[in-house]
Amino acid sequence: LGKKISGALRKLANRTVVDEEALNEMLNEVSRALLEADVNVKLVQALRQSVKRKVNLEELAAGVNRRKLIQKAVFDELCNMLNPGTSPPPLKKGKPNVVMFVGLQGNGKTTTCVKYAYYHQRKGWKTALVCADTFRAGAFDQLKQSATKARVPFYGSHTEADAVKVAREGVDLFKKEKYELIIVDTSGRHKQDTALFEEMEQLAEEVQPNSIIFVMDGTMGQSVYDQALAFRQRVNVGSVIVTKLDGHAKGGGALSAVSATKSPIVFIGTGEMLDDLEPFAPQSFVQRLLGLGDISGFVNAVKEAGVDQNPDILKRIQEGVLTLRDLYDQFQSVLKMGPMGKVLSMFPGMQDLIPKGKEREGTLRVKKFLSIMNSMTDEELDNPKVQFNQSRMIRISRGSGRDVKDVEDLLSEYKRLSKLVSRVGKNKALKTGDFSQL
Ligand code: GDP
Ligand code: MG
Repeated sequence: LGKKISGALRKLANRTVVDEEALNEMLNEVSRALLEADVNVKLVQALRQSVKRKVNLEELAAGVNRRKLIQKAVFDELCNMLNPGTSPPPLKKGKPNVVMFVGLQGNGKTTTCVKYAYYHQRKGWKTALVCADTFRAGAFDQLKQSATKARVPFYGSHTEADAVKVAREGVDLFKKEKYELIIVDTSGRHKQDTALFEEMEQLAEEVQPNSIIFVMDGTMGQSVYDQALAFRQRVNVGSVIVTKLDGHAKGGGALSAVSATKSPIVFIGTGEMLDDLEPFAPQSFVQRLLGLGDISGFVNAVKEAGVDQNPDILKRIQEGVLTLRDLYDQFQSVLKMGPMGKVLSMFPGMQDLIPKGKEREGTLRVKKFLSIMNSMTDEELDNPKVQFNQSRMIRISRGSGRDVKDVEDLLSEYKRLSKLVSRVGKNKALKTGDFSQL
């Protein structure tokens, strides 16, 4: 019993003193968060080792905030792991740069090729697309359609089966026309597709790309390392793009892709639209990995937007509690900032409420919710434990002139967002180690 008590006392003291045990405990929390974010077990182990090596508790001078130092060590180490120490192959203005995209089927190559083209075209590059996917039916049509939307010239064939031939023709054509950025989309392939891997090698041999980009699906977990390695062994991958980071995926597989290809991440894909491509920012990515992205991104965006925010709300979110009044304040800020406000997509769960492309409908729905909440009592707004039974809902519906169905709709949204917030509240790393303050 004595041991137990002293253990508990030590834990209490943890708030100010960090000893070996507290360090381990903290590393356990962080490791768990990273494993949940799909970071490879071996990488998590490596991180623990190097943080332990770097943080020498004995040597830390008295008076230094040790906890902060450990947090910083974890944060820096993760940023470090995202940095393979090589730069992406540079694109040279005024020269014909050929960039080839490779990766598994469905990972977002074609979508990303066109976004990448669109991004550079807007920056003044003379850009064109070549569809060297002759394998999947409809591949050329898909590229053609979105390239047309992006107003990027393209080349491909509906009938030619020889991908190498199409690639050569397209690249030659655009080189002749003095294009500066010629992007070659290839077909998706799996490790076991020997023939397609050979075709990929031949393509690279033929068009001699200045840069090969490996496209990975951000929702993929432990399988990424092997896949990325398989590509790296056959062609000279120089950089990585991680797609589908607009959803709930934390993208931990990206660390594996960096480690397997020894190449840096250059962009992330955050949606299906043309402009949903963002230059990679390691620090916010690490925050996302640790489960902090939502909140700290949210805080920053709110600060940037200069919107006055109920100061209690962030604290309550960290505690894992959301009241209807918090939601009310949140809805009002969202309307004030405009439907496209970045804040929208950073507040946990908000992006689903006003989805991109459906801003008008989403905004109307939020306005409806606000009018319903105007008919609620203080008790209903402030006490998350209130039960909304039928008679309550009918009263609110009458008071606001809305259907009971709409009241139910609001309450089910509230329930959904509450769940998200309580998940954030359960994230110990967020509670104990406030990485966002580093
Ligand atoms: P490919 O087989 O590698 O060429 O993959 P595609 O470009 O055809 O993309 C496969 C699917 O993923 C399509 O439905 C795309 O719209 C979708 N997709 C690609 N990138 C993203 C992204 O960043 N976010 C989301 N949500 N979907 C994406
Ligand atoms: Mg494709």
